[in-house]
Amino acid sequence: MVNWRWLLRMSNRSFLAFVFFFCLSFTCLYFIYVAPGLANTYYFMVQARGIMLRDNVRTIGHMLRLYTNKNSTVNGTDYPDGSNSSEYMVQPTLYLPENFTYAQNLPCPERLPSMKGSMEVNMTEIPLEELEVKFSMMYGVKFGGHWKPKDCRPRWKVAILIPFRNRHEHLPILFQHLIPMLQRQRLQFAFYVIEQSGTQPFNRAMLFNVGFVEAMKDLDWDCFIFHDVDHIPENDRNYYGCGQMPRHFAAKLDKYMYILPYNEFFGGVSGLTAEQFRKINGFPNAFWGWGGEDDDLWNRVHYAGFNVTRPEGEIGRYQSIPHHHRGEVQFLGRYKLLRYSKERQHLDGLNNLHYNPLVSLSSLYKNVTVDLSPELAPITDY
Ligand code: UDP
Ligand code: BGC
Ligand code: MN
Repeated sequence: MVNWRWLLRMSNRSFLAFVFFFCLSFTCLYFIYVAPGLANTYYFMVQARGIMLRDNVRTIGHMLRLYTNKNSTVNGTDYPDGSNSSEYMVQPTLYLPENFTYAQNLPCPERLPSMKGSMEVNMTEIPLEELEVKFSMMYGVKFGGHWKPKDCRPRWKVAILIPFRNRHEHLPILFQHLIPMLQRQRLQFAFYVIEQSGTQPFNRAMLFNVGFVEAMKDLDWDCFIFHDVDHIPENDRNYYGCGQMPRHFAAKLDKYMYILPYNEFFGGVSGLTAEQFRKINGFPNAFWGWGGEDDDLWNRVHYAGFNVTRPEGEIGRYQSIPHHHRGEVQFLGRYKLLRYSKERQHLDGLNNLHYNPLVSLSSLYKNVTVDLSPELAPITDY
């Protein structure tokens, strides 16, 4: 039996302090559980500040050493040791000149003169109808959000999949930035908004699997971009084509102070060829609620023998649209699932997926609405 008499022996002040710290820790844990995205943002921000502070101290130390050491010179290639040298080593990459002429029968180049680099980001909310008119009339986007270049052969046929529930004001902001960028990159593309209905926790990964199967019914897409609705690229040289290896596009997020939060981070915006995606058996279906599904995808990619590439330097920068909503609750079971990524990879994914979609087409995208539940992706024991 619990002996509570020690509580009575406490002084009033200690008792109040105990109650205060108990409530504080409970509130913290509750906050982390109900707003994991926000909690993570704060956590990674503090971590990024630490890294920046450490780098600054190192740089100052290095400058002081150079200053006191008469034999050294300060020149443009002299960088503090131990700092993230890849940042400094970014080679100037060559882009084609303005007068480059395209040929209809040749593949569009990857480094086009129209890709200027840093783009202006505008987070102002706009009605979707306004964009529908603009992009279909002036930018030649076909019903359903399809577009392809006419002056060269698109190097990639890219399906952009967007997992979605109740973020209506985010969609137009994303389209407004992505459509002109993808056109400047001369990619063939279309948008698929995969919307979860019903009351189950959000399942970002399973929505991507549904999107993959549905998009493949339209066209033999060769590249898939898995794109959060609230991630806006800041640089149009972030080329949304695929490659020999899966790619993580969202390497530097404003919410993490433009520092990769951890090496295995694979969230926000990623891309795989259709072939790579099939080989890894797609995303896992078993992650309900916030967190972990992107980490599992990272594991799958590596177990299948791939590596992940990322854009260089400033190219992988993104801004996130501030959320007005309370996010999903944490998926606490993710740690256990992540321990068995390898065992689950061939049991859970594209090969155990069942669903009943409601498909509708609008000017800028195809909407696929699905009511997801765990019974739709049964998994045998592992
Ligand atoms: N999402 C959504 N509605 C939700 C939760 C998530 O549309 O209620 C989609 C949306 O595309 C979002 C992505 O899933 O960008 C990732 O979720 P969230 O933004 O909540 O994660 P965080 O940015 O907090 O890590
Ligand atoms: C979660 C990921 C998330 C990342 C960054 C990790 O703890 O498991 O799903 O993308 O944090 O927020
Ligand atoms: Mn988000």
